[in-house]
Amino acid sequence: MEISKNARMVLEKRYLMKDENGEAMETVDGMFHRVANAIARGDLLHDENADVDATAAAFYHMMTELEFLPNSPTLMNAGRPLGQLSACFVLPVEDSMDSIFEAIKQAALIHKSGGGTGFSFSRLRPEGSTVNSTGGVASGPISFMRVFNMATEAVKQGGSRRGANMGILRIDHPDILKFIDCKADNKEITNFNISVGLTEAFMQAVETDGEYSLIEPHTGTVAGKYRARKVFDKIVDAAWRNGEPGIIFLDRLNRDNVVPKQGEIESTNPCGEQPLLPHESCNLGSVNLTKMLKESRTGYVFDWEKLKNTVKMAVHFLDNVIDVNKYPLEQIDYTTKQTRKIGLGVMGWADCLLMMGIPYNSEAAVELGEKVMKCITESGREASRKLAEQRGAFPLFEESILPQDMPQRNGTITTIAPTGTLSIIAGCSSGVEPIFGYVFIRNIMDGTELLEVNPILKKELERRGLYSEELMRKIAKEGTVAHIEELPEDLRRVFVSTHDISPSYHVRMQAAFQKYTDNAVSKTVNFSNYATREDVAEVYTQAFKLDCKGVTIYRDGSRNEQVLNIGKVK
Ligand code: ADP
Repeated sequence: MEISKNARMVLEKRYLMKDENGEAMETVDGMFHRVANAIARGDLLHDENADVDATAAAFYHMMTELEFLPNSPTLMNAGRPLGQLSACFVLPVEDSMDSIFEAIKQAALIHKSGGGTGFSFSRLRPEGSTVNSTGGVASGPISFMRVFNMATEAVKQGGSRRGANMGILRIDHPDILKFIDCKADNKEITNFNISVGLTEAFMQAVETDGEYSLIEPHTGTVAGKYRARKVFDKIVDAAWRNGEPGIIFLDRLNRDNVVPKQGEIESTNPCGEQPLLPHESCNLGSVNLTKMLKESRTGYVFDWEKLKNTVKMAVHFLDNVIDVNKYPLEQIDYTTKQTRKIGLGVMGWADCLLMMGIPYNSEAAVELGEKVMKCITESGREASRKLAEQRGAFPLFEESILPQDMPQRNGTITTIAPTGTLSIIAGCSSGVEPIFGYVFIRNIMDGTELLEVNPILKKELERRGLYSEELMRKIAKEGTVAHIEELPEDLRRVFVSTHDISPSYHVRMQAAFQKYTDNAVSKTVNFSNYATREDVAEVYTQAFKLDCKGVTIYRDGSRNEQVLNIGKVK
């Protein structure tokens, strides 16, 4: 199996089955067998004569070839007693003590199993409103978020990975200004990503410089009015300062809510790519696009047949996950199986473009992105319809907004996840993000330095006889290939990194993939440190116009503790 040292380290540390002394009880290969067997057994629920061994072999092959990987909880927990396989959950938070603390308990159970949780706090009455039963005053959504945050902090010591949350507040909640600033200090509410839920009405008021109403969630009465642009500017300012809050377009999430009779979608999972109804969960998986290429006389091209076949098998895999899954709560089990949502996405997109010689920030790349995702969604739907013929449509299919002539097994098929860990395991670029840096210098303990060079760049430089350590050090120092003058023009144009790409192209790529994605796309629009607030505002407007479902931005250097640094030693 072609798997890197880094990948092995990640798997050994967090994914392999361990005994009580922390010693691995299985090999990497054994892990893939465990997962393939456990998931293939899902076939028996529909056909007691199913050839489970053949299906397990096919799943095993697809994973060990690194063509497709399911989300982390499936790799960690399939075929083990815990058996919780989903990455994404949304829990309801109603305006009562009972509901608030029930949600905290449920979240703790989910975090323990490696899943992430999203909450809308929009139903909580604002800070300072009266509480009838005690005659006291309510503490409001932000103060309860701190409680959720502390619970997450406590659970993370026990679980296999630290818990992650999404917190959402509607733009018309009376506490919205406090929410926008609640993470102004980097050390606050650290286990949450936060997003403001924007409405079309609000966006219209921004455009016409009008006012919009604040609504008391517990009474439905108007609590006041704000000038939309003023609040919009506050969101922009906070995001410009340290990347939070993000924004999501609530009405768009609900336009694509397949079962509107079940209620509104109010929140997404932690990284924003999976909108869900309260108590719904979703399991994700990603196709490694670098494995979907073939060599032609003119260089690499997409092998569309291979892509379609991989998607077909991935949909089968993810549909089985829903049945094999052991849910942390009866209610989540029930709600999830009503719509049977799955989230198939991609990773390795930027690597593919490098291999094909197409700059990420080009018309050609945007067009190809759209074409690739169209192929995935269309063949994914076809696969889900085939499954419906054998296994039946999802229970709420008839009340869903989907075309009724062709039953579908799954309410949604596609989602683009960040693939933070999956891309390390697969050894490819993450999700649909561009390459952050091509060369890193790692200091090893004995004082020597280790050069880590992007393998696609290295291969291309060697092919052209241009590779040298000195050049690599220069690229590491500059943080980019684009500005190294001694390199040929075509190479500098193709090997672009995150900060060579204009924010506008970041958004265009997100929109290209969103166009053919049922759920949403996880993407960060990166700005250079000297970007202005106006630049951020422009990206929000552009994302709105291009029909994105939300935006997350980050301005280089705007947080003290940055995860990745360019031009610096890692
Ligand atoms: P992976 O690569 O590990 O499968 P992703 O980076 O693609 O995961 O994230 C997908 C989703 O998994 C996130 O949106 C979130 O719902 C969940 N998730 C990611 N990291 C964590 C975490 N540390 N704790 C809980 N859930 C997480």
